[in-house]
Amino acid sequence: MGWVKRQRDHGGVIFFDLRDRTGIVQVVLSPDESGDVFAKGETARAEYVVAVRGEVRRRPPGTENPKMATGEIEVVAKELRILNTVRSLPFYPDEAESVDEALRLRYRYLDLRRPKYWEIFAMRHRAAQEIRNFLTRKGFLEIETPMLTRSTPEGARDYLVPSRIYPGRFYALPQSPQLFKQILMVAGFERYFQFARCFRDEDLRADRQPEFTQLDLEMSFISEEELFALVEEMLADLFSQVLEKNVKTPFPRLKYREALDRYGTDKPDTRIGMEITNVSALVAESSCKIFAQTVQKGGVVKGIRVPEGATFSRRVLDELSRLAVDWGARGLAWFVLGGEEVKSPLAKLFTAQEMEALITAMGGKPGDLLLFVADKDEVAGPVLANLRLELARRLQLAKPEDFSFVWITEFPLLEYNEDEKRWEAVHHPFTAPYEEDIGFLETAPEKVRARAYDLILNGTEIGGGSIRNYRRDLQEKIFRIIGLPEEEAQEKFGFLLEALDCGAPPHGGIAFGFDRLLMLMLGRETIRDVIAFPKTQSATCLLTQAPASVTPRQLEELHISILERAEQKSPR
Ligand code: ASP
Repeated sequence: MGWVKRQRDHGGVIFFDLRDRTGIVQVVLSPDESGDVFAKGETARAEYVVAVRGEVRRRPPGTENPKMATGEIEVVAKELRILNTVRSLPFYPDEAESVDEALRLRYRYLDLRRPKYWEIFAMRHRAAQEIRNFLTRKGFLEIETPMLTRSTPEGARDYLVPSRIYPGRFYALPQSPQLFKQILMVAGFERYFQFARCFRDEDLRADRQPEFTQLDLEMSFISEEELFALVEEMLADLFSQVLEKNVKTPFPRLKYREALDRYGTDKPDTRIGMEITNVSALVAESSCKIFAQTVQKGGVVKGIRVPEGATFSRRVLDELSRLAVDWGARGLAWFVLGGEEVKSPLAKLFTAQEMEALITAMGGKPGDLLLFVADKDEVAGPVLANLRLELARRLQLAKPEDFSFVWITEFPLLEYNEDEKRWEAVHHPFTAPYEEDIGFLETAPEKVRARAYDLILNGTEIGGGSIRNYRRDLQEKIFRIIGLPEEEAQEKFGFLLEALDCGAPPHGGIAFGFDRLLMLMLGRETIRDVIAFPKTQSATCLLTQAPASVTPRQLEELHISILERAEQKSPR
């Protein structure tokens, strides 16, 4: 039983490919062998649902199809039942690749009929299974936490659910199970995990989904070292079981500051070389005014070396310069290292010694290209980070089937929010500071390092977590420093503070974006490929047309009235 993939009438003999989730097989109907079912076969169209009974036979010599897994055999139908017909379809699964994504999401079930998705979801299932088994072996319990809860700050807006019984009150859908998992530690469970659905109402830049799945872990009496070792073992197990790939452990580690210095970002793609060199000190006094003045004004001059980049055409160099400007730089300085001379619009501005020193500092060799950005550090770093990725793309330096993990550690605990004129948590306010930095909390908050860590895979953050504040006084102090008045802290997080006071063990954990991890494992470009029913970039479900209006009666029950605004968007 299955679906007719394609029917072909070859003058008196009908062929169709029968497809089910295990694959495809060719069915043959000829008047001689198939008798009266032949007429029925003539009516079968693509995507009809049929049941076939027949005889499997070797295909006649010369008609085998080596491209098909079942290309050596066929089924001679003796019985054919048409279980369901189709009206005309908006598109056929086979042609989905060339169909607009909006249409594919609207008829997601047709899109999902493609073998590509059987593979993806079989693999998603296997990955989850593997992780469950692994964590079970390690003494973890899978425990569910509530969906209807109150706000957990992870830096996004909440999805709210109005309460019918309590007018004017709202549940929040969890941005993460953060507080519940910490409370499970207070309860004494010691090792918890969950495939948790999380909800974040963010403006959907890039490849994000308003609801997504986290693999969420928490452990008591744990150090960073133990957590890293456990996660590394789990991922190595996952990659070997599901992808038959060996990943090398332990994963390298980079301190946040070092990541910014060497890669310009805290999410470095470590498959690519071309690390950043800071030449500020070298050029501060140089005769090249643009460079020297930038440094004198407190900026930096940083560059990367593109091995064998001297072959880039002028057009490519102009494109890269334009990109750098788009990303916020004032310009891009390039130096093409020929055999004898250096080609660059800036070359004349340097003395021979200065140029030589610059090239030496960059490790430049004949045939290389040197690229520099002279700007504020906050600009130069990210622009060079983007340039690395752009160059890697153009030069195909990073293969999706190579997996390069790196831990980023020692993030700052707090950052200053200029708009709100207050300090805020970089990760979330439950993250613990380094013991030896606690003294700076009040005097120099910017110096305090967080016991937080991110795991980066090929330049994408796949997980993040921290060791938590488990003592009430410290947690309260941090609430105070991020400008949460005591009353509000009590109102919002009183239950946590109380729990910390009731015998909370030291604990810490991590959460992985499960969808994102699968996307990378499968070498997919979008997260929507690994989610059965994803939402669009504008947070709508095209299949069900959610979000949708509700009846006045429902609104009334929920004590809600809608403000009519001039531009009401209709969800598309
Ligand atoms: N709750 C955090 C997050 O969702 C992860 C963690 O700290 O365990 O990013």
